[in-house]
Order: sequence, then structure tokens, then C-alpha cells
Amino acid sequence: MHKFFDGHEALKNINLTFNKGETTVILGPSGSGKSTLLRCINLLETPERGTLSIDDIHLDLSGSVSKKERLAIRQNTAMVFQSFNLFPHMKVLENVIEGPVTVLKKERIAVIEKGKMLLAKVGLSHKTESYPSQLSGGQQQRVAIARALAMEPKFLLFDEPTSALDPELEGEVLKVLKDLSEEGKSMIIVTHNLNFAKEVADRILFLENGEILFDGETKKFFDNKENDRIQSFIQSMQ
Ligand code: ATP
Ligand code: MG
Repeated sequence: MHKFFDGHEALKNINLTFNKGETTVILGPSGSGKSTLLRCINLLETPERGTLSIDDIHLDLSGSVSKKERLAIRQNTAMVFQSFNLFPHMKVLENVIEGPVTVLKKERIAVIEKGKMLLAKVGLSHKTESYPSQLSGGQQQRVAIARALAMEPKFLLFDEPTSALDPELEGEVLKVLKDLSEEGKSMIIVTHNLNFAKEVADRILFLENGEILFDGETKKFFDNKENDRIQSFIQSMQ
């Protein structure tokens, strides 16, 4: 796929297939197109040309994407943002069940049970009746993760999920991501945290200037000796 902003090509001929059960980490310098790529996968941005396939949904982006197709892609790719984006006027549990009830039209009673289970999973059973403003950043982000999981997406997308957090709160969110990865959830994570990438990713994508300079196993990325650009990137992050 390609993505242009006012004539500037932010993504250049990207063709990717994401496998189920894998955790992919997207790395790259600021402005390289990481967020744009994630937003194109989710159709928050509409890429020009190319195709997008998520499981059994295949879109040709040269034509117009219908509302129905857009919705199908959205439901299969839940996004967790840097800034949590919780609904401030809703309690924690309400935040988690909102999507399944209003979008997926699921029965409220069943969704409440599921929501409680997901909040327990992210360590927040005791906060179901709190408002987002009463939670720490790390707790809010864990609610956002529970909310994404409640939609039962095929893929979970994370754009720098810990960069708005103080370092001491970062760990609790990374732990949740690590657990989900080990459970075999399919995830695509943009991060600047190389240690986390090394520990959790099955696959690394390295972007620069809208192009993929590396796509492969995590170990190969970090052990790479040939590519100067990758080596200097890794060094600059340490
Ligand atoms: P960072 O690490 O700083 O978050 P990034 O790798 O996520 O950077 P993107 O946000 O994807 O980078 O931006 C890629 C390029 O596209 C940049 O040159 C940016 O200025 C441009 N860009 C992104 N969003 C828009 C937009 N809505 N309108 C115009 N240009 C944009
Ligand atoms: Mg970004």
C-alpha cells in the first residue's frame, strides 16, 4: 500500500502479511511512518492503492472502501492509543462493555461478566466502578487494553502504549502486553522500547522514510552486522 499526505509519500509500497498468533514490533526513527502504517492497517487513515487483507477480509484499496468493509476491518483490529482515549464520563466497566453492547449488539449481562473477567486479567478488579480520572496512567492504559480485548479482535494494535507513562508505571503495562503475547494473541506494537521489543517480539519491522528496511526475526534484527542503518539506530536508542 501507499499513503500520501499533501504529496509527501509517508508509506512507500508496503506489502505485509501479519500472521495469527504472532507479536510484531514496529521500530524506526521519529517520522518514519510507524503510526501511519498502524493507522492504515486499521483504516483510521485510508491508504492509496494496494490491498489489505485481514484473515478472510480482502480489500482492494484502489477502489472505494465501503462502510461495511471499513467496519469489518475496524472490528478485527482494535487499536490502543498512546493517550488511552477512555470515555471520561463512563466508569471503568462501562468503558469496557460499551463496544460489545453498542457495536457488536451483545447481551449486556453476558458482556458485564466478560468485562469483569478482562479487568481481572489486567489486574483491575477493584476499579470497575471508578472513573478514568480516578486512575493512574498505567491503570487507564490497562483499562484501554481490556476494552480492546472485549471486542475480540483478530489483531490488537498498539501505538506507543507506554510513552505517556512515567517509567515506574510503564512496567505494569508492558507486563500485560507480554502476558497477551505469551497467550498467543496476534499483536502489532509500535514502541521505542528496544528491551521490550527484544523480549516480546516474534518479528521486527524497521521503518525509515516510509520504507521497510528490515522485516524478520527479532534475533536477526538485533544480531544484524551488515546493515549500518540498523546498527546506528540500535546504538542511538541505548
Ligand atoms: P513518531 O515516532 O514520532 O511517532 P512515526 O514513525 O509514527 O513517528 P508518522 O506519524 O507515521 O511517524 O509520520 C510519518 C510521516 O507522515 C511524517 O513525515 C509526518 O509528518 C507525516 N504525517 C503523519 N500524519 C500526517 C497528517 N495527518 N497530515 C500530514 N502529514 C502527516
Ligand atoms: Mg508515531
